[in-house]
Amino acid sequence: MKGFTSRIVHSDRQAAIEHGSLQKPVHATVAYGYDDARELAAVFQGKQAGFTYGRQVNPTVEALQDKVTGMENGVATVCFGTGMAAIGTMLFALLRAGDHFVSSAYLFGNTNSLFNSFSAHGVEVSFADATDVAAVAAAIRPETKLIFVETIANPVTQVAALTEIGRLAADRGLVYVVDNTMTSPYLFQPKDVGASLVINSLTKYIGGHGNALGGAVTETGVYDWRGFDNIYDIYRKGDAAKWAVAQIKKKGLRDFGAALGPEAAHHIAVGAETLALRMERQCANARALAGYLADHKLVNAVYYPGLQSHPQHQRAAELFRHPGALFSFELDHGVDIWEFMNRLKVVIKSSNLGDNRTLAIPVAHTIYYEMGPERRASMGIDDSLIRISVGIEDTQDLLDDFAQAFAAVG
Ligand SMILES: *Cc1c(COP(=O)(O)O)cnc(C)c1O
Repeated sequence: MKGFTSRIVHSDRQAAIEHGSLQKPVHATVAYGYDDARELAAVFQGKQAGFTYGRQVNPTVEALQDKVTGMENGVATVCFGTGMAAIGTMLFALLRAGDHFVSSAYLFGNTNSLFNSFSAHGVEVSFADATDVAAVAAAIRPETKLIFVETIANPVTQVAALTEIGRLAADRGLVYVVDNTMTSPYLFQPKDVGASLVINSLTKYIGGHGNALGGAVTETGVYDWRGFDNIYDIYRKGDAAKWAVAQIKKKGLRDFGAALGPEAAHHIAVGAETLALRMERQCANARALAGYLADHKLVNAVYYPGLQSHPQHQRAAELFRHPGALFSFELDHGVDIWEFMNRLKVVIKSSNLGDNRTLAIPVAHTIYYEMGPERRASMGIDDSLIRISVGIEDTQDLLDDFAQAFAAVG
């Protein structure tokens, strides 16, 4: 089966089916017992396949890991309790004091906060304009180990120079980490631009229903870890394309403990079956709404890669199946942001993204509040900026909702 959705919905059947169950069952267990103690030891030593302890492995979580690996066309995946846990644990497992990494300056707010914490622990970060490969190249130092970028940045939707940064990372032998959350593997597979590791917050589009938190790191098989001196000797075994995942699993997931639970894994796996269907609808809705707002006299600006006016419109068109389902816009300064938002009836005032429901958030006052006005200004975040995560509602209901809110305040 070649199709994206066919592969997802039949993924569980690639392993042994339990009791004919078409969904991978929820294995609500922490421990796994063995009749023969030698078998238990063999599993611990990696000489035999099997399960040791729920913090590291669970059959329901493994089935989801296989699904995500398939979606990203990778070689292995480790799941975590949240997307932040995936990012934090990946860096914790791969970098050491004295190392440096380059990150896109356009980042999910909590990732920005996390990277600053790493600086306090001796792993330095430089933020660079990732829409421009020259800016990323200029930030590289002798002790740089890794480059981290998001595909479409949130909330102003800058599109990173993904292809060019991939070539740069390959030339310099750097690990290239791409956070694919905003595009999801349906719109884009970072392996195609040479990513070494792919991050997905499973909480967002992959789960889709806003009912479970989860995160994943997928190894693409592109990077040759033999040249990466931070891999411990004990993990330098077998296929060198999978060494990072082995170390992230042991030094990261096992030792740090941010495990994904089996119930959440089940919710996410069920959600993942309709990723392509939801994304088609959400992206079509986003195009319609962004187009409507771009022409509205009470709107100063709309940031959506699907619009011709977007600085990376062409790049997004070349890289992504669709330009995403998230955009943001600035209200005319004569419009009171609170009054406008409170008039919306279908659109929900909420901080999540990737939900089936359309969600709106006043960015400067919430998710970017803690970073302060200067960093906000440097990221182009105006006080009137509203981020919209577009859901699967019927298009006309969404257009009508915005129209009545504007009519009430205009
Ligand atoms: C939400 C998000 C994360 C973090 O994911 P959680 O599951 O909420 O921890 C990371 N990166 C991006 C781009 C996100 O949108």
